[in-house]
Amino acid sequence: MSELPVINSRSLELSYKIPISKTKRFWDGLKEGKILATKCRRCGKLYFPPVADCGACYSSYMDWVELSGEGRLVTYTHVIVKPASFRDEQPYTVAVAELKEGVKALAWLTNVKRKDIKIGMGVRLVPKQFTDGRVAYVFTPLTGEGRDQ
Ligand SMILES: [Zn+2]
Repeated sequence: MSELPVINSRSLELSYKIPISKTKRFWDGLKEGKILATKCRRCGKLYFPPVADCGACYSSYMDWVELSGEGRLVTYTHVIVKPASFRDEQPYTVAVAELKEGVKALAWLTNVKRKDIKIGMGVRLVPKQFTDGRVAYVFTPLTGEGRDQ
């Protein structure tokens, strides 16, 4: 199979602007050290990350609730070949954990050596503030479970 001829073009910088009007409280919560979810006032379904409208009963009456952040690791993967937006990061681990409150969360798993990661280990979802002002959330092991610090 012959390859198509190509020329190298300029690289493209992409920056995403994500509308947050209905979830601003969530981002503010992270800055205050809180992990917030929304709970449907009509049917009680809990959402993390928070959503403005309930996908189960279509209600828009949602309450904000603070989560403990504590959960158990369900699955994880190491990301070596990174997407463009994370190309400057070291290889990282993405994990899914089931939180005490019954919702699953997806986030980077930090502060733990790869060899110490075990399915079922206790993790806590914590806010992370970057030096450029961005906020996100990451998992960190519960104390005594293979902490790398
Ligand atoms: Zn609902």
